[in-house]
Amino acid sequence: MSGVSPIPLFEAYPGLTRRAPHVALGSWPTPVDSNNTLAESIGAASVSLKRDDVSGAIYGGNKVRKLEFLLGDALRRGAREVLTVGYAGSNHALATAVYAKQVGLGAISMLLPQVNAKSVQRNLLAGFHHGAELHTRPNVGALTRAVAWQFLRHVAKTRRLPYYIPAGGSSPLGVLGFVNAAYEVARQIEEGVCPTPDVVYVAVGSMGSLVGLHLGFQALRLPIRVVGVRVTPVDFASEAKVESLFGATVAALRKYDPSFPNVIMNPDLWELRGEFFGEEYGRYTEAGAEATGHLREAGGGSLDGTYSAKAFAAMKSDGDRGLLEDKDVLFWLTYNSRDMTPLTGEVDYHALPHAFHEYFETAVQPLDA
Ligand SMILES: *Cc1c(COP(=O)(O)O)cnc(C)c1O
Repeated sequence: MSGVSPIPLFEAYPGLTRRAPHVALGSWPTPVDSNNTLAESIGAASVSLKRDDVSGAIYGGNKVRKLEFLLGDALRRGAREVLTVGYAGSNHALATAVYAKQVGLGAISMLLPQVNAKSVQRNLLAGFHHGAELHTRPNVGALTRAVAWQFLRHVAKTRRLPYYIPAGGSSPLGVLGFVNAAYEVARQIEEGVCPTPDVVYVAVGSMGSLVGLHLGFQALRLPIRVVGVRVTPVDFASEAKVESLFGATVAALRKYDPSFPNVIMNPDLWELRGEFFGEEYGRYTEAGAEATGHLREAGGGSLDGTYSAKAFAAMKSDGDRGLLEDKDVLFWLTYNSRDMTPLTGEVDYHALPHAFHEYFETAVQPLDA
């Protein structure tokens, strides 16, 4: 392993190594497991699972990839605190709190209400345990005003602006984490860890994973189709927004290293699917619950109802319709599988700001019970 960079994108573009901000947080590459039981049951030539669920020692999931670049930038700019936004159960807000603390930064989470689930309770307790300052507002307008207020308050307190991280960490800089993920998969293919997939399935919240993977595969000239399964409303994720994030990320890459190719999107090689969204963000679906049971029975681990279960349901439905015959499929496990209960067990929810108590005092949604 010596001499091999854990960031294959940097190896391909040394200009990025010198100029792009980066701080090491995760364990790379994440493993790829092949699962024959799954391949047989969905009628694909092969199914591989990309294990981003174990991307970090304390807390895994797909946000660790983006945070290596975002927190690298925060440190480079001399920030003391980072501020981010999301829904109450946001995996991104929790990942930010965990890894900001690890690199010596404070974290402020500005959160919107959502449907109740055990994962919402767990993430709130874990964020609090890691020292995040938690706030909530009832809607986007009120949250935006509260973010502006936090900026003023923290300038007064620390004489510095907090470093702002957008929802899901999907700024062009954050997306670099998933461009690198494409290079990581390419290296694993070369090493014979998995076959070259014909198609990759990934859940789409803030679009960074989908955009980064398609961008990376385009730069690598690998004809791998990326199917993004939308789990947020269209105001958060749409084709137009995917295209604009793609363009902004190419521009950011070329600013750091002008030798990075000026790639464009290939409409045959990416897709944004909406039919597995269900009623609303964070609302579990029957198809998602079935998918979760299906993966567990195949010995492939667990899925979360908000994101990965909906993406898996899309893959399973395509398989059931015979669309994956002869296809090598890669499913991206984006959810954390590290057990947080030893940490959260120590926290009494009464210590959280009062507005969050309702998540602990009301029932979780029926499909999560
Ligand atoms: C954030 C998240 C996603 C979506 O990734 P984006 O890059 O925001 O589209 C998928 N799965 C899980 C579990 C997540 O937390």
